[in-house]
Amino acid sequence: ATLANLAIDSLQFGAHGLIPAVVQDHQTGRVLMVAYMNRESLEKTVATGQMHYYSRSRKALWHKGETSGHYQHVKAVEVDCDQDTLLFQVEQIGAACHEGSRSCFRAPGATAEPFAVEATPAPAQAGNTGRAIGAILGHLSDVIASRQQEMPEGSYTTYLFTKGQDKILKKVGEEAAETIIGSKNNNAQEIVYEASDLIYHLLVLLRYHGIELDAIAAELEKRR
Ligand code: AMP
Ligand code: ZN
Ligand code: ZN
Ligand code: ZN
Repeated sequence: ATLANLAIDSLQFGAHGLIPAVVQDHQTGRVLMVAYMNRESLEKTVATGQMHYYSRSRKALWHKGETSGHYQHVKAVEVDCDQDTLLFQVEQIGAACHEGSRSCFRAPGATAEPFAVEATPAPAQAGNTGRAIGAILGHLSDVIASRQQEMPEGSYTTYLFTKGQDKILKKVGEEAAETIIGSKNNNAQEIVYEASDLIYHLLVLLRYHGIELDAIAAELEKRR
């Protein structure tokens, strides 16, 4: 369900006015973290679409990602049977855990596993390595085409093609909006993540229409 469906008044905030929130990756289902929300943080979450909690240690409203840039964009919410626990599906920017790992959960005794690869923006001074990005886009486009051919089960790309044009268009719109939010936040890491989401979904849309990347290249070349 979307956040708009959430009936805040029917929730059981506990003795301290808090309700636990279980947070999972919306694509993989992996549990990322558990934290508490009070009414204010839940209202903030609904208003902004980004996870806000109540920090028990700091005794304050906590906008996840405010200092780290590791924001959580809400994709869906569920309420448990007795309305005293919330389950959020989010798009996690970077690491959910403040110790640097994707998820707060790990085997007992294990140390945090640094998570960087997916979310680290290329340093701005590195400039545009046009060749590399061209190769990556070409490869990604090939992978998308093969998913469309073979429709392997469990693939997110298969899921998009199964749902069809409207779903793909919705995603393109969402990721464009998230790129805009990242820009408004002046958060380079968030922009890189969301722009990557946008480009991937655009490639899926082109494939849906049978448009080759060559057509885009030719059009851009024409304008040069
Ligand atoms: P952030 O909200 O990611 O900008 O992190 C700000 C602060 O919130 C960190 O320095 C931690 O004290 C705390 N924090 C962030 N993420 C977590 C988490 N997953 N679990 C517990 N505390 C966290
Ligand atoms: Zn319960
Ligand atoms: Zn953690
Ligand atoms: Zn996104």
